[in-house]
Amino acid sequence: MTRLIFFGPPGAGKGTQAKQLSAEYGIPHISTGDILRDAVNQGTELGQQAKSFMDRGALVPDDLIIGIIKDRLAQSDAQQGWILDGFPRNVAQAEKLNEMLAATGQGCDRVLSLVVPDEVLKTRLLSRGAQEGRSDDNLATIEHRLAVFHQTTSPLLDFYKTHNASLLAEVDGHQPMDQVTIALKQAIAH
Ligand code: AMP
Repeated sequence: MTRLIFFGPPGAGKGTQAKQLSAEYGIPHISTGDILRDAVNQGTELGQQAKSFMDRGALVPDDLIIGIIKDRLAQSDAQQGWILDGFPRNVAQAEKLNEMLAATGQGCDRVLSLVVPDEVLKTRLLSRGAQEGRSDDNLATIEHRLAVFHQTTSPLLDFYKTHNASLLAEVDGHQPMDQVTIALKQAIAH
């Protein structure tokens, strides 16, 4: 049973690493950003509600996100473990996740924090925008997403340090992809 939270700024490599480890460990990779982008592409009500927030790099309201996670964690493939990527993103979401896990008698095994300098993140995100055409990977939105990360998401590190310091592991995300994977696996094993 492996339940992991991948934590870090946009462009840190959470999605890439989560895909890799999800395949290796045979547990689902649950990315709230991917779920929201699918909803936007399919034009669902959720997508319509989320789009304007995503386009400007703001956080989508907590009630929408918490609903997504509640449904997703209840699915059968998530009963044997999961990797959360992009959730929780603020203290309210982290508290709600703790409540949800406590209600089902589950816990989280590790919060893995990928650390990458802002200048490297900007370069990575701009090149992803050019390659994948993600509409939020433009300079103005990238800068806003980084600001949201520093102001709203990074206080979560203190939240986890206070609640359960042994959960948290920091991994240097500014090294070759394979090295990051190795470092993550070491942190998970310890
Ligand atoms: P990501 O792919 O994780 O970078 O997410 C892309 C966008 O989706 C973010 O900039 C937010 O607008 C939205 N989003 C994803 N996850 C969350 C979350 N946990 N809380 C609020 N908004 C989110």
